Amino acid sequence: MKQEMKCVSCGKKVESEKNWVEFPCPGCGKVKILRCEKCKKLENQYECGKCEFVGP
Ligand SMILES: [Zn+2]
Ligand SMILES: [Zn+2]
Repeated sequence: MKQEMKCVSCGKKVESEKNWVEFPCPGCGKVKILRCEKCKKLENQYECGKCEFVGP
């Protein structure tokens, strides 16, 4: 099953965006965290759906 390509902070789809980041969750390392440029800039909080790690 394909993981949905959306920002974990705002839920916006990043597929059509140019600038977004993808990195493994710092908490569990098993989940890919996607963030759009806006949330990265604003340092919006995100939460891992697996280990409930919350981070900027
Ligand atoms: Zn976002
Ligand atoms: Zn995690």
